[in-house]
Amino acid sequence: MSLFLEDITLTYEDGDGRLTALDDVGLDVPAGTLTAVVGPSGSGKSSLLAVAATLVTPDRGRVVVGGTETGALSAAERAELRRRRMGIVFQQPNLLPSLTALEQVELMARLDGRGRSGEARERAGKLLDTVGLTGLAHRRPHQLSGGQRQRVGIARALMNEPAVLLVDEPTSALDHERGGAVLELLGRLTREWGTATVLVTHDRSRLGVADRVVEMVDGRAGVAAP
Ligand code: ADP
Ligand code: MG
Repeated sequence: MSLFLEDITLTYEDGDGRLTALDDVGLDVPAGTLTAVVGPSGSGKSSLLAVAATLVTPDRGRVVVGGTETGALSAAERAELRRRRMGIVFQQPNLLPSLTALEQVELMARLDGRGRSGEARERAGKLLDTVGLTGLAHRRPHQLSGGQRQRVGIARALMNEPAVLLVDEPTSALDHERGGAVLELLGRLTREWGTATVLVTHDRSRLGVADRVVEMVDGRAGVAAP
C-alpha cells in the first residue's frame, strides 16, 4: 500500500493572519520504502505527518492511501482507515497510566475487534521483544524510562500490521546506540512487511536506512541526499 501526497498546503490561525505550516508539499512513498523527513524545529515535519495520517485536513491538496482518496472519506471512515491500515507513532507516546506495556500493545488489537484470543497477547509480547523490551512487558509507564516508553509506542503502532507507518522523532529520548537500533528496526520492518514508511528524525547520521530523504524548510519540502 503506497502513500501519496500532492500539492499540500496547510495553514493555521495565527493572531490576525494565518501561518503557512505546509506550502505546496508533495510526498510519494511506495510500499516497502522508507522516506526520512528532516529539517529544523518548526519547519512543518509534524504537520506533514498529521496530514498524511488524515488527522488534519489540509487547506489544499490530496492525500491518497493505497489508492483511496482520503478527501472523499467521512471522519468515521478515516478513523477506520487509521485503525486498520496505519501505524502512527507520535513524539509523545501518550500511554495509558494504568496499563502495562503488554496491555497497551494488546489493546490495539482489541480496539480493532481482533483481540479475543491469546494470539493477540502472544503477538504483543513478541513485538515488545522486537523493540528490545524483553522482560519489561508487565511494567506500567511510570516504571519505564522515556526511551522505553517510546519503544512501547512503536510496538503499539505495529500491532495491527500497518500498511502505512508514520513515525515522529522516535529516537528523541534514546541514546545514540538504542536510537540506531530503532531506526534499523523500522527500516527492516519496512522491507519485510512492505509498509510505506515516513520517519521524521533529527538524527542525520542514520539516514542510510532511508530510500529517500526530504528536507523541510519553512513549510517547503526539498530533496536531500540520503
Ligand atoms: P516541526 O514538527 O518541524 O517542528 P510543526 O509541524 O510542529 O513543525 O510546526 C510547523 C509550524 O506550524 C510552526 O510554526 C508551528 O508553530 C506551527 N503550528 C504547529 N501546530 C500548530 C497548531 N496546532 N496551531 C497553530 N500553529 C501550529
Ligand atoms: Mg515536530
